Amino acid sequence: MEHTDERTLAATALGEEPAPAAAGHLGRCRECGGELEQLRRAVASMRTPSPADRDLLAPPERVWTSITEALSVRGEPDAPPVGGDTSEASAV
Ligand SMILES: [Zn+2]
Repeated sequence: MEHTDERTLAATALGEEPAPAAAGHLGRCRECGGELEQLRRAVASMRTPSPADRDLLAPPERVWTSITEALSVRGEPDAPPVGGDTSEASAV
């Protein structure tokens, strides 16, 4: 017996109507039916991202605030330079 090819399984998992012969085989063959089920789950997980994935795509505003604050602190070198001029001035 010939199994359903991967392309047909993928297309069916994506919602396409399989050919009658393929549909009949998928209904009878446990191997192909299981593979189709796995593909359907993979497609479903890709279409509905988990909450953790959504957090990665859109981080909370406080994260951006802390990042921009850290960058602006580093971008302003307003600390006075440490030199030997002060000792000379006090000596005079
Ligand atoms: Zn099969």
